Amino acid sequence: MARLAQTAGLTDVQQEILATVRDFVDKEIIPVATQLEHKDEYPTQIVEGLKELGLFGLMIPEEYGGLGESLLTYALCVEEIARGWMSVSGIINTHFIVAYMLKQHGTQEQKDTFLPRMALGEVRGAFSMSEPALGSDVSAITSKGVKDGDEYVLNGQKMWLTNGGTSSLVAVLCRSDEGHPEGTAPHKSMTTFLVEKEPGFGEVRPGLTIPGKIDKMGYKGVDTTELIMDGLRIPANRVLGGVTGRGFYQMMDGVEVGRVNVAARGCGVAQRAFELGVSYAQQRQTFGKPIAQHQAIQFKLAEMATKVEAAHAMMVNAARKKDSGERNDLEAGMAKYLASEYCKEVVEDAFRIHGGYGFSKEYEIERLYREAPMLLIGEGTAEIQKMIIGRRLLEEYRFQG
Ligand SMILES: Cc1cc2nc3c(=O)[nH]c(=O)nc-3n(C[C@H](O)[C@H](O)[C@H](O)COP(=O)(O)OP(=O)(O)OC[C@H]3O[C@@H](n4cnc5c(N)ncnc54)[C@H](O)[C@@H]3O)c2cc1C
Repeated sequence: MARLAQTAGLTDVQQEILATVRDFVDKEIIPVATQLEHKDEYPTQIVEGLKELGLFGLMIPEEYGGLGESLLTYALCVEEIARGWMSVSGIINTHFIVAYMLKQHGTQEQKDTFLPRMALGEVRGAFSMSEPALGSDVSAITSKGVKDGDEYVLNGQKMWLTNGGTSSLVAVLCRSDEGHPEGTAPHKSMTTFLVEKEPGFGEVRPGLTIPGKIDKMGYKGVDTTELIMDGLRIPANRVLGGVTGRGFYQMMDGVEVGRVNVAARGCGVAQRAFELGVSYAQQRQTFGKPIAQHQAIQFKLAEMATKVEAAHAMMVNAARKKDSGERNDLEAGMAKYLASEYCKEVVEDAFRIHGGYGFSKEYEIERLYREAPMLLIGEGTAEIQKMIIGRRLLEEYRFQG
C-alpha cells in the first residue's frame, strides 16, 4: 500500500530490517497505541519487542554487540516506528543519542562499560540539558559540577528529561569551572557527566531525585521528568571523554544526529496522518459521493502527499550526508524544520478531513493532533533551526565584493 516515502538505493540488509520493523509496527504497535496513549501507559511489551529486534543497538558498533548500522537505517526505522506511535520512537531516541555520544566521545573504558549493555537495552539512556529557566539557550545552564578529590559534586535542577524515570544512564550537562579561568566562554566550561541510576522515581541514588512524570498534552506513555541533583557525587571517570570543558560540543554533536531523528519522526507521523485521511475520505459520503471526490478534499490529499514526499527526501538527504562523514548541520536543521512543520500541517489537514469525528477520541487522528506539536519543540524549536540554517548559509554564501 505504501507508495509514498520510498527510499532508493537501500541495501538488501536495510530493506530487510525495514520490512521487519514495519511488520512489527503494523502488528504490535498500531493496534494498541491509541489505547495505551489514552491511559498514559508505558508500552512495556512493545519495548521488549524492540529489544528482541535489536533496535536499541542498531547504530552501536558490532564489536560492542550492536548491529553497526548507519544513521540512514536508524532514521528510516524511526520513521516506521513513529508512524505507529511517536512515543515509542521517543523511547529509543534519547538512548540512541547517549550511545552515539559514547561512541564518538567516550573513553575506551566508558565504551566497554556501557555500549554492550546499551546494545541489549539493559542500560537505557537519557540526556539532560534543559533546566526550568532555559531550553534553547543552553549556554545559560546553571547546574554545576565541582571537583572534590576523585569525585565531582553536582548540584542543580534539570527539566524535561525524556525517559528520565525509565533510563539507567543519564548524560547530564553541567557547568564545571575547574581548570577554566573566570570569564571562559560558557560553551568551553561545560562538562557532560555520565550519571548512573536506578530506573524509577523518587531518590534513585543518593543526591539524585527524579520526581514524578510531567503531565503532558500528548507524547504520552513515554515518561518526561525533572531531575534534581543535591550533592550528587560522581567519580571523575564518569566525565564523558575523561576531560572537562567539552560537554557543550559533545551534546551539540548528539543533538545534531537527534535532529535527523526528529525529522524522521515528523515523516512517520505525517505518513500515518495521510493514510488515515486518504482512507476516511473514500468512506465518508456527503452530497451523494465520497468526500474524496470533492475537489477541495482531493487538493488537500495532494498537498499532504507532496509534503510527506518532500520531508522524507530531506530527511534521507540529511542522514546520508552524515553517513558519508560530511558535516550535516545545515541539512539536519532544514530537515528537522521542514519535517516538523509539514507534519503539523498534514496532521491538521487529516483532522479536518475527519470532520467532527476527528475531535472524537475514538479516532486515531485525535492522538496525532496532540502529538505533532512536540516535534516543533524537541531538539531545538523552529526558530533555533532557522538560526542554525541562516548562520550556515551566510558562511557558505559569504559576500565576496
Ligand atoms: C516533551 C518534551 C520532551 C523534552 N525532552 C528533553 C530531553 O530529553 N532533554 C532535554 O535536555 N530537553 C528536553 N526537552 C526540552 C526542549 O529541548 C526545550 O523545551 C526546547 O529546547 C525549547 O526550550 P524552552 O522550552 O526553554 O523554550 P525557550 O527557549 O524559552 O523558547 C521560548 C520561545 O522563544 C523562542 N526563542 C528562544 N530563543 C530565541 C531566539 N534567540 N530567537 C528567536 N526566538 C527564540 C523559541 O523558539 C520559543 O518559541 C523536552 C521538551 C518537551 C516539551
